[in-house]
Amino acid sequence: MSADDPDSVAFQDQPISQLLVKVAARCNIDCSYCYWFRDAAVYDKPKLMSDEVLHRLLQRIEEHVANHSLIDFPIILHGGEPLLWGMDNFHRMAEACEAISSRTSCEIPIAVTTNGVLIDDEWLDCFEARNISVAISLDGPAHIHDLHRRTFQGTGTHAAVERAARRLASRDIGVSALSVCNPAYPPKQYVEFFAECGIANYDIMIPDATVDESPSSVASFYNGLFDLWLEANRSKPTVNIRIITDMITALLGNNSPTEGVGYKPVELCTVMTDGSVEAHDVLRIAGDGFTRTVFNIFDHAIDEVRTEPRWKAARDASINLCEKCRQCKFMNACGGGYLPHRFSRKNGYDNPSVYCDDLYSMFENMQSVLERHLYVSKAGGERLGVREALARA
Ligand code: SF4
Ligand code: SF4
Repeated sequence: MSADDPDSVAFQDQPISQLLVKVAARCNIDCSYCYWFRDAAVYDKPKLMSDEVLHRLLQRIEEHVANHSLIDFPIILHGGEPLLWGMDNFHRMAEACEAISSRTSCEIPIAVTTNGVLIDDEWLDCFEARNISVAISLDGPAHIHDLHRRTFQGTGTHAAVERAARRLASRDIGVSALSVCNPAYPPKQYVEFFAECGIANYDIMIPDATVDESPSSVASFYNGLFDLWLEANRSKPTVNIRIITDMITALLGNNSPTEGVGYKPVELCTVMTDGSVEAHDVLRIAGDGFTRTVFNIFDHAIDEVRTEPRWKAARDASINLCEKCRQCKFMNACGGGYLPHRFSRKNGYDNPSVYCDDLYSMFENMQSVLERHLYVSKAGGERLGVREALARA
């Protein structure tokens, strides 16, 4: 499907399919690259979600899944640092979602994204008992992680976070790690570190930047990461590196499950600590209340945010690509890059990603390697490389 294909209308009228819930609007550490605190508007919000907001949110969740007959409605608890909300609230939220699930037959898996500093045995018990999966922010080994992820006093947080990651991996908890790529270091250092921690499921995300910035090139990092991923999974699946599997999924013509890769609408909705509803959280990268809408869960159903101009503008921008992307052979796989990376003060989202050259090189490299590794089995047992099979078709 292309951006000007009439079938793109099929992207419309999908109910909000997952919710990002900001249960804490402050953080206990001070990462230098944090997009959340780039937007001064976050300080206008209450520090923590109140009982009253939680109560109303749960009603809205039940109303939403019932009205749209959803079978699955993931909720991601986020911050700031969500563990600041407190363990009792996690138990209450999870218990209430279990009750909604049993009344509506809609699965409501809960995940939390945390910096991991506060995780102790009690938190591990809570996650395990409530089946809450945990994504821990961990930028690989200490000399990379501690460059950016520091306390307010300026000391590194790596020791505490690594300890938490290892303990999570040792329990019956769905755990993944979220790293930000630092292209000054080889990908091998990340891959070896996570293998050593026992974490087989992780992402190494492209650093946030808008078109108004000049971030370092990341292509050679990711091309190297792809080689390592291929090597590790050569005989059997051993490691899932999300950005790599998502790019391959998209290259093979399927929908990648995450929003950063592929051509599809970004439909995420964020509920803030005061119950206001905002557009895609990471668009905060554009600064100064950029995601703010006049919607809130007291007065509006969750899905009503779809008619809100700023939410709609971000959603429409995610599928209305610029001219260069529309002409690109990787348009469907790349989708113009991650939406925030397409923003400029001058053109809004009408730009290719600030990482366009890198993305092109990454997709091209992946495609050529996959063509060498993928075979089509013919009826007589003959195996043809994908390129040859296509040429004969
Ligand atoms: S842990 Fe997350 S919210 Fe807190 S400062 Fe770091 S990036 Fe920002
Ligand atoms: S590689 Fe560049 S031109 Fe192609 S779709 Fe991605 S951002 Fe657009």
